[in-house]
Amino acid sequence: MSKLAIDGGKPVRSRKNFLVFGAPQIGSEEIAGVVDSLRRRWVGTGPKVSEFEQAFARYKGSSHAVAVNSCTAALHLSILSLGIGPGDEVITTGMTFCATVNAILHAGATPVLADCDPRTLNLDPNQVARKITKRTKAILPVHFAGLPCDMNALMKLAKAHRLHVIEDCAHAIETEYRGRKAGTFGALGCFSFYATKNLTTAEGGMVLAKNEALADKLKRLALHGMSKDAWKRYSDSGYLHYDVVDLGYKYNMTDLQAAIGLPQLRRLEKNWKRRRSLWKKYQEAFADLPVDLPAEPLSHERHAYHLYTPLVRKDSKRSRDQVLAALTAENIGVGVHYRALCDHPYYRTTLGWKRKDVPVAAGIGDGTISLPLSPALSDRDVDDVIAAFRKVMGK
Ligand SMILES: *Cc1c(COP(=O)(O)O)cnc(C)c1O
Repeated sequence: MSKLAIDGGKPVRSRKNFLVFGAPQIGSEEIAGVVDSLRRRWVGTGPKVSEFEQAFARYKGSSHAVAVNSCTAALHLSILSLGIGPGDEVITTGMTFCATVNAILHAGATPVLADCDPRTLNLDPNQVARKITKRTKAILPVHFAGLPCDMNALMKLAKAHRLHVIEDCAHAIETEYRGRKAGTFGALGCFSFYATKNLTTAEGGMVLAKNEALADKLKRLALHGMSKDAWKRYSDSGYLHYDVVDLGYKYNMTDLQAAIGLPQLRRLEKNWKRRRSLWKKYQEAFADLPVDLPAEPLSHERHAYHLYTPLVRKDSKRSRDQVLAALTAENIGVGVHYRALCDHPYYRTTLGWKRKDVPVAAGIGDGTISLPLSPALSDRDVDDVIAAFRKVMGK
């Protein structure tokens, strides 16, 4: 890339004020909660994890929530708990994070990509229908950026072909579709509490399960395959024997993580309102730029406003990568969510994925850019993002 392409004169922000993309909002309650757990010396899976599971289930209106150490673990266990494995196919979108397909691969199953809708960036139900075979066992939709997928169409397809639905809700904690909450449509809904997500526990995840049997299985698989409530074995009720009844993993959440998550959950709706107002401000400020603005939610949809992802159009003077470099030179941190999965060498080599299999996702992956959208941004920060993006896009 030429120096000229990114030389924009005096940057909008100073170097020492570099705006970090996706920095979480951490308050004094989170700090006090972690210190409290440390003082009590219960640092593993304990009462705060239980409390966090219950509070999250209540927020989502679900009866069964199982906390784990990442959304990747949540997806992996979800696929395993439905008995999906070698020889089975799981259909997902070409426009998602690698963890979505890695979880399918770790379970021994075969991920099959379907293309996304160019407006919503969500799985296109017509494309899913074309990919269903005798081996298909599940559909794994991702509510991209927090905008819900067309769940009526996807659930109808799943019912007609007797397929499981596992929702990747990593972007979709606050998302709703026709009054129903994301993560409660399928058998299982998987959430991420990674540092940049709408709610963070530093690292962490959660699964919502349709019924108790699935929730019990997930709990077991998340902790070595040990029998129920094994985490209580060193508590004040005295030592308890446990049985290993499954080949499980080490995917449990700790009380230190739950201590961060509890106050984050209490602030969730307040932060959602803040992000919604930033999102609206961006939509107005960028309406005249050579970019495709992200899709607005329809009247029956509730957006989680997790990511703000304008698409740098082909007719723009700068390529997406030049825009990324120029914004970095303005000392504004940016992200890319995501380059299409078919562009990564591992999947091209081992699964033979090609851009022509998912042309819409491939095109989005070439042009998309993510601007900062954290509730921790000050009004000044937001003005800087707007000034920098307008400048870089030639306005
Ligand atoms: C972040 C993310 C994941 C993985 O979440 P972790 O908690 O980091 O494992 C999975 N899918 C999507 C769509 C994500 O954005």
